[in-house]
Amino acid sequence: MVDPVQIRQPQPLAFILPPLLTKPSVPSIMIPPQPHIAQRFVPFGTTIFTTMTGLANTHKAVNLAQGFPDFDGPELGKHAAQRAIESNHNQYAPLAGLPVLRESIAQWSADFNSLPCDPATEITVTTGCTEAIAATFLGLVNPGDEVILFEPFYDSYRACVAMAGATPRFVTIKPSTNGFTFDPDELTKTFNGQTRAILINTPHNPTGMVMDDAQLTLIADLCKKHDVIAFSDEVYERLTFDGITHRSIATIDGMNQRTVVMSSLGKTFSLTGWKVGWAIAPAHLTAGIRAAHQFLTFSVPGPLQIGAAAMLDEARDEVDTLVDHYIQTRRVLGEALDALGFEVYMPQGAYFIMADHRRVTERLGLTTDIDLCTWLPEHAGVAAIPPSAFYEHPEHGAGFVRFAFCKRMETIDLAIDRLRSALLP
Ligand code: GLN
Repeated sequence: MVDPVQIRQPQPLAFILPPLLTKPSVPSIMIPPQPHIAQRFVPFGTTIFTTMTGLANTHKAVNLAQGFPDFDGPELGKHAAQRAIESNHNQYAPLAGLPVLRESIAQWSADFNSLPCDPATEITVTTGCTEAIAATFLGLVNPGDEVILFEPFYDSYRACVAMAGATPRFVTIKPSTNGFTFDPDELTKTFNGQTRAILINTPHNPTGMVMDDAQLTLIADLCKKHDVIAFSDEVYERLTFDGITHRSIATIDGMNQRTVVMSSLGKTFSLTGWKVGWAIAPAHLTAGIRAAHQFLTFSVPGPLQIGAAAMLDEARDEVDTLVDHYIQTRRVLGEALDALGFEVYMPQGAYFIMADHRRVTERLGLTTDIDLCTWLPEHAGVAAIPPSAFYEHPEHGAGFVRFAFCKRMETIDLAIDRLRSALLP
């Protein structure tokens, strides 16, 4: 037993105060400590989005790099969230998400993706789709499992594979005469007895590829044959062009029980900063997702969930207006890039244009996507993303550059003016 008298003994000052306060004044040339980063994150550095937005801000460049709209989402959802804060919805929301939002997601999923689901057992509300992806990997994949990714990939996928201790296998999406596609034989050979999951993203960031029925059916057949789960990132589900429509792999025969559909409010309602997303999966897979989600964030801010429910229920027409806007910005930017010498691959979906930059960089005496994207903010006042950051084999992406067109038309026009001044002889 501890002697209470001893506890009350006065301690020497040096023992009580934090060491910094007791040390003699530090010389100003002290070398700061090296960043301490766990090994699993060392390969990934800082995300390219943060890096390029930083460069854009430094040079006051038009930011066509990080994919976020420079305008706000519908007012009605903002007001619903404000009212929720005012009316004291400010304590923890339930782990799985507020029932009102899960009902709205279920209705949305049935109406737009022909995918009915049970709000009680099959939906988990997450901090954006990024957390849905993390919870899905951590909750459903074991160390040593293999996971198939398509490259180019959204950068968090690769980090989530690492966090789960899994082994990634890659299939490359390549340009073809009709935009981007993948080789069915390459995909077929990548599946094996160790494969636990395949992550697909359609509409695809950064290429704009929208998987058609033949591609989805091939993936579904391979999943069924090898007993594999499909993780399907569908955040650009409503942003498709030229009469192409999105289909969820969960609706392919036999896939409902082996698919996790992940999506969010951010792209569809221009609210990327709200970070409200969800995972839809059969109850046996939702169990794993919730097992991880409860320890990642536990739950998502309640007022934003109430705002999100209002958007999904009542702002549906505004999505059509948004798509009409993106049809214009996509066309105007695509035509301008083409006229400047870029080889443009018009996207079928999402809000990015991938272009082969090599004719332009050659003129400038530059080589890679990184050269170009470092040069552009400073010399043209426009920022873009070097897509090699999305490849396991960076050389596969070094000839491309990615421009975001999720901006006001004035912003696109300004970027085009600046690119013309800097790039035309
Ligand atoms: N998804 C967006 C993009 O691809 C950005 C995401 C982020 O900044 N983390 O540009």
